[in-house]
Amino acid sequence: MKFTSFGFDERLLEGIEASNYEDATPVQEQVIPLILQGKDIIASAQTGTGKTAAFLLPVIHKILTDPHEDHTNNALIIVPTRELAIQISQHIEGLSYFTSVSSIAVYGGGDGGAFVQEKRALSTGADIVVCTPGKMMAHIKMGYVKFQGLKYLILDEADRMLDMGFYDDIMMIINHLPAKRQNLLFSATMPPKIRELARRILHQPAEINIAMSKPAEKIVQEAFVVYDTQKIPLIKYLLHKKEFKMVLIFCSSKISVKNLTRELKRNRFPADEIHSDLTQEQREEVLIKFKSGRLSILVATDILSRGIDIDNIDLVINYDVPHDGEDYVHRIGRTARAAAEGTAYTLVSVKEQRKFHAIEKLIGKPVPKSIVPEQFGESPAYTPEGHRPAGAGARQGFSKPKRFPQRRKPE
Ligand code: AMP
Repeated sequence: MKFTSFGFDERLLEGIEASNYEDATPVQEQVIPLILQGKDIIASAQTGTGKTAAFLLPVIHKILTDPHEDHTNNALIIVPTRELAIQISQHIEGLSYFTSVSSIAVYGGGDGGAFVQEKRALSTGADIVVCTPGKMMAHIKMGYVKFQGLKYLILDEADRMLDMGFYDDIMMIINHLPAKRQNLLFSATMPPKIRELARRILHQPAEINIAMSKPAEKIVQEAFVVYDTQKIPLIKYLLHKKEFKMVLIFCSSKISVKNLTRELKRNRFPADEIHSDLTQEQREEVLIKFKSGRLSILVATDILSRGIDIDNIDLVINYDVPHDGEDYVHRIGRTARAAAEGTAYTLVSVKEQRKFHAIEKLIGKPVPKSIVPEQFGESPAYTPEGHRPAGAGARQGFSKPKRFPQRRKPE
């Protein structure tokens, strides 16, 4: 799902584009429309699912488009650690870079200068405040924090906050907030004490459960960093080099499926294709041939990435990088099912490096990069941070930190 389908403010869409987010992650798809509708939410989602942007984007959009009081803090995000507070405020800076939204991170361990800056922001009002509970309580006790117009409360990693003993601080902070507000609670796990917290602070919440699946350990994952023109020759080489009984090759488009299959057939590989241009009957026929072993290489679009039950695939090749981490996990999860182990190769072109890097972040570890054999000539280096898509390059200053106080709304 594209970010344009949420109806976000243009300035926010620019920040999303500059952050190189192309498609919404599953948690974003589910959570964003509900937050835009004004619902309270309880979501179980781990780090790596894109949960931060899932709450930041609709909150920033609402701050930009809904009328709200000036000189008050509008949104409060409470998090367990200062590292998370810093990370989230960097996220805010990136996503809201082209807007006038102001934010401040309030966390322990800073010096006197930081305290003064926090005090100034909290007493004049920042659009978004990210804080750790203890430090926020310290400010609240001094009496200058302006919460009278606060509209959004977000508790992130709530289970961790309770494990760290922040329950009382959180409840005390909440007692200082206006009763009418939208509440969003994110937690990796849902133990009874989180349910209890939710009962006390959420109002008829929508419940969302997104457990980010991880690739099975027994799948050997490798990536080849190549130029587009090297992809088909490399696949032919890999299929020749070692004998695999059942190979499933995924392509993101029907055209690539057809081109690759044609090329494999021309080279006498026992390959065929499956995609939505075939009738149901034709698809079933191909699948039967593949399952029975009469066909050992099947080239497919993502119609085969979820839930099909073919047990003995020993190699999955991603001809191109899938859209997101979930698709990647589903595609490579077609191997190593009944079989003891399986292999998954992903071919990453220069313009796909960023997308692949985002997937590596979502699955929580880098995929080892294999050396492209010399006979293919020079291959590109893996520098995902260095390749900006066309159009974003002009925004080199994008990650420049914004300082508080920033541009204020016209008064
Ligand atoms: P989180 O789960 O919020 O910690 O996010 C994990 C990583 O995914 C962060 O580095 C985000 O910048 C990145 N991310 C979040 N949403 C997207 C998206 N839609 N596309 C690509 N990367 C994303």
